Amino acid sequence: MLQRKFDRIVKGFFPEAMDAKDTSIHYLGKMQIEHGIDISKVLMATSVCSDDINVPSTTFFNVLFGPFIMGGLGGLPFVGQTGMTAFAHHIPDDGSAFIFYGPHIGITLDGELGKMYRPRQEDTGNSCGALMLALSRLQDQGYRPILNDDDYQQMKLEESLLPYREEVLNSDNQAKAITDATYDIIDKKIHEHIKSCKDEFPVDKVTLLGGIIINTDYGLDDYFDARNFEVMDLKSL
Ligand SMILES: [Zn+2]
Repeated sequence: MLQRKFDRIVKGFFPEAMDAKDTSIHYLGKMQIEHGIDISKVLMATSVCSDDINVPSTTFFNVLFGPFIMGGLGGLPFVGQTGMTAFAHHIPDDGSAFIFYGPHIGITLDGELGKMYRPRQEDTGNSCGALMLALSRLQDQGYRPILNDDDYQQMKLEESLLPYREEVLNSDNQAKAITDATYDIIDKKIHEHIKSCKDEFPVDKVTLLGGIIINTDYGLDDYFDARNFEVMDLKSL
């Protein structure tokens, strides 16, 4: 019953979102049937936020090898070109590569985005915590993130969001807007790293699935709002 209520609320914000099971069946099916990819030899990488709440979402695809974890706070691929190269070198012989990426956002049954009930907690908490913290700081016009060794990922995430600051602050739903902006940042970085590391891949095709993970209550299926599914041909880059 609860799952059905969430379904209605999630789709109010993300009409195209699918639950975890439908997402995995839909996209693994596409890879296999439309693109002739042998699912038994696919290594997956993820670029999603470190948050413990995302662990079940990455098991959408637990029939695949991996994951090679590229993401840090917010889901940015902090492992960079070295991480992309390592991932490429780990692909099974005659196998294939799949990268699942994107930010996450919590939702409550009251339809509040950016919040969720976490396991065994009475009150709602932020989700994504890193993004909601960035949002509260960017709301202060005088704020500037300062890169430093002791809080590198958060500062880098906030710095990457600076070009989107006005767009986010002018939006009707700032929590959703900062999540959309972060999707763009991750999507761009993943494409850049693949392009700069393309000669490291022992295969010609890399499958990408990017979008927004929507966290519901603990124990219920998460949702995924796909923004990009593509089978990249590395030869044409
Ligand atoms: Zn997060």
